Amino acid sequence: MERWDAIIVGAGPAGCAAGFDLATAGRAVLLLDKAEFPRHKACAGGLTRKSLRALRYSVAPVVRETVSAIVVERRSGEAATLTSRKAVCAMTVRQELDHFCWQQSVAAGAEFARIGAILGVEANREGVAVRTAEGEYRGRFLVAADGVHSRVRQLLYGDRPAWFRRGFALEARVVPANGHSRDLVFDFGSVRQGYGWVFPKGDHLNVGLGVYNDAGQEKLDRPRLEAYIRERFGEARAEHVTGQYLGFGAEAAPAAEERVFLVGDAGGFADALTGEGIHGAIASGQAAAEAIDGELRGRKRAQPAFGALTAQLRQDLQLSTSGSRWFYGNLDVGYRALTAPVFRTAVINAYANGTKIAALANAVRRFARLFAASA
Ligand SMILES: Cc1cc2nc3c(=O)[nH]c(=O)nc-3n(C[C@H](O)[C@H](O)[C@H](O)COP(=O)(O)OP(=O)(O)OC[C@H]3O[C@@H](n4cnc5c(N)ncnc54)[C@H](O)[C@@H]3O)c2cc1C
Repeated sequence: MERWDAIIVGAGPAGCAAGFDLATAGRAVLLLDKAEFPRHKACAGGLTRKSLRALRYSVAPVVRETVSAIVVERRSGEAATLTSRKAVCAMTVRQELDHFCWQQSVAAGAEFARIGAILGVEANREGVAVRTAEGEYRGRFLVAADGVHSRVRQLLYGDRPAWFRRGFALEARVVPANGHSRDLVFDFGSVRQGYGWVFPKGDHLNVGLGVYNDAGQEKLDRPRLEAYIRERFGEARAEHVTGQYLGFGAEAAPAAEERVFLVGDAGGFADALTGEGIHGAIASGQAAAEAIDGELRGRKRAQPAFGALTAQLRQDLQLSTSGSRWFYGNLDVGYRALTAPVFRTAVINAYANGTKIAALANAVRRFARLFAASA
């Protein structure tokens, strides 16, 4: 039976990032997914500057628009525009982005197989095995990149491990009857513990609602999103309304099985402040690849290496989680601080670059406390 250096379950941004790096390093990589590509994924497809920087290749062929300004809204009529000299976010359609990334991984040498149900997963000191309806795959390492409902995580750690948290977001493809602006909008007046968004995609808009803290989650469903779209755009064609959970909590995840790495949404690498998950998926996937390749080269053991390689990311996520609880719990004050002229440039650049977003969230929190005390 063939024995792979690494088996990767899930070929979204996390799995493709891991697959690309391992294949480029000359490793025998098997990429498994239950879907054939291209496939749909509920997602607004916004790639911040930090996501673009993390990718090993240009995704220009699938970028529909780039934006350098963000409109943030609180209630109808209350809005501020944050601008940047550089592009802040590249707008893609996830079906196109994921297909493109999948093609890069396969071109780099990863072998792809479509699978049905995963019946079992085993991991021990010798290696890993994934048992599927079609047969068993054996390898030295396993990367679980199978998204928020990860079957691998479920089989190894139970349905909802204590450290794992979820958000939920719902999106639609919208074509307003009277044309549309090309603004990227975050609307903090539309839901509690999250925001509504409008992302321009050239010939259409991606419009959605998302909640990012478990506490006080409110029901988001198709009628709610359709009402929101009517409210904003009047007559508009809303298509492909789809929702999905997002996976948070990587910052609190304990060290996992010796030869298994949970990455992307499966490992809780989405950001609970912004709802951004593609960057965490790419970065954690690449970290798993580097850790695996390092052990195969006889360097450090992969599991502690993965911990070290994701330490900064997990620290940032920790700050985002506390920033999220404070920001969405104190939205009036938070919004005023976020849009204060002194912070506007820093806020938009922090969103785009990511590295300082959590630190900035804490600065905003301190500023808001002072502001509230002096009001
Ligand atoms: C509505 C919405 C809007 C969002 N907008 C943005 C945004 O604009 N920007 C951003 O950065 N993030 C956004 N996110 C978050 C982002 O979509 C996720 O964080 C990101 O897709 C995680 O990538 P991943 O590779 O971990 O998982 P996924 O992209 O979910 O990929 C998982 C893959 O695993 C496969 N899979 C699942 N189960 C199995 C199985 N049992 N066997 C085999 N294969 C399996 C799936 O078919 C899929 O291909 C949004 C999320 C939602 C829900």
